[in-house]
Order: sequence, then structure tokens, then C-alpha cells
Amino acid sequence: LEAQLHQAQKMESIGRLAGGVAHDYNNILSVILGFTELALRKVKPGDPLRDDLNKIYAAAERSRDITRKLLTFARKEIIAPKVLDLNVTVESMLKILRKLIGEDIELTWRPGVHLWPVKMDPSQVDQILANLCVNARDAIADVGKITIETGNVSFDQDYCNRHAGFSPGDFVFLAVSDDGCGMDAATLENIFEPFFTTKGVGKGTGLGLATVYGIVKQNDGFINVYSEPGHGTTFKIYFPRATGDITENRPADAEKIPEGK
Ligand code: ADP
Repeated sequence: LEAQLHQAQKMESIGRLAGGVAHDYNNILSVILGFTELALRKVKPGDPLRDDLNKIYAAAERSRDITRKLLTFARKEIIAPKVLDLNVTVESMLKILRKLIGEDIELTWRPGVHLWPVKMDPSQVDQILANLCVNARDAIADVGKITIETGNVSFDQDYCNRHAGFSPGDFVFLAVSDDGCGMDAATLENIFEPFFTTKGVGKGTGLGLATVYGIVKQNDGFINVYSEPGHGTTFKIYFPRATGDITENRPADAEKIPEGK
């Protein structure tokens, strides 16, 4: 528990620092992007300067993407928790996820039956799914499989005594598995650290899993990771069962809205 608290405090201070820097940096980047765009307009086609300016523009754009990610990570976003059916939330993301992972990777969806309700902001579920699926995609060299699964599960005190990292109670789990490269013990130990990445300069930001971790903690859940080098990885997230009626049911809501003209 102390380690968890320490991690949470560290995340918060890094978040605050990163948010402040990212905000100022974003303003500077807007200036660079704006003036590069202006310069590009003045340079005639075929001028070798064009190439250089395009490179400046692309680099500044990439920096802006990173600062945006930092801002989402740091910002205490206004969240609107709702009692929801996780299956409905996952289903509404499947199309986007398929686009995100590309055509060479097969996405399998295994919804659990009669899921208990959970209380959280559905956009946080979207964020978790996007981050986990992008990581799964990147772990797969060319062709492979990603599976998303949900289900209900209960742990009693006895089980939790025997299994570190579990909490007693009723939970709804969300699991994302891949048959990609997997992780060694040294990598596994660091994956939730902000800015930890093995993807190399210009590719990873190391904020994906830190963000996922933050969201899960904010919702009183916990994460378990199973990974085997060369075989694949499963991220399994547990959210506490909520009481109350499901208020977020997108298909039903959609039916209520009359067709626009
Ligand atoms: P980023 O994706 O920018 O590197 P993340 O925080 O999302 O940042 O991930 C941190 C690191 O965890 C990755 O660089 C990678 O080494 C490892 N990782 C995360 N998910 C997986 C996965 N599904 N398979 C293998 N390695 C993974």
C-alpha cells in the first residue's frame, strides 16, 4: 500500500510539473508552426528551402503531439462518472480500435455475460482501450491477434492473501491480450513509470500506461499484467462492481433521440 501511495504521489507531482511545462511549450510551438507555415507560403515550389521548412514543420507538429499527450496526462480532466455496462462502452469503441491497429492484426471481442455495472466516465474506458490496443499493436511484428475480453469476478480474502495485487470484492474485469513480443522482467518493472518507453526516440512517449494506471487508481480498480517474452502480454484491469441502475446505455439513448433532418 505504501508503494502504491508513493507511486500515486509521484505521478501527481510529475503530472503537475509536466502540465505546466507542456502548457508553456505548446504556446511556443504554436508560434513556430505559425511562422513556418507563413514562410512556406512565401517560398516558391522547387526552392530547396521548402524541404528544410517542411522538416521544421513536421518536427514541430510531432512536438505538439507529445505536449498534447502530456497535457491529457497531467490535466485533472473533469470527469463525469456514470453507472455503465462496460460491454456497451467497449462495443462503441471497436470500430475506432480496428482502425487504430490496422488490417494485419485480428481483433477478437469476447464480451462477458450479464456484466455487473461499473461506475466511471466512459471516455476513460475509451482512453484505456486506445492505449492498451496501440501498445498491443506495437508489440506485434507484422501479423498477430489482439483479444479484448470482459467478465465478472469475485475475490475473497483468502484468495487475496494468497495472490499479491488482488483486492477482495466483486469486480468487472477488462482484459486486452496480444500475441506479440512480450516483456522481460526488467521492462515489466517499469512500464507504469511516466516517460518509460522502449520504443525509441520519436516513437514512444512513455505516457500511455502511466495514464492507464492513473485512470484505474482514480476508479478504485487495480491492474495485473501477465507477460512472457516471445509469446505475448495480457493486461487485466479490475473495476469495482457498482450499485445502481445503468445510466449510460448508448444504444438505448440513441433510440430516444429522434432522427435529425
Ligand atoms: P509508450 O507506448 O509510449 O512506449 P507506454 O507507457 O504505453 O508508453 O508503454 C511503456 C512500455 O511498456 C513500452 O515502451 C513497451 O516497452 C512496454 N509495453 C507496453 N505494452 C506492451 C505490450 N502489450 N507488449 C510488450 N510491451 C509492452
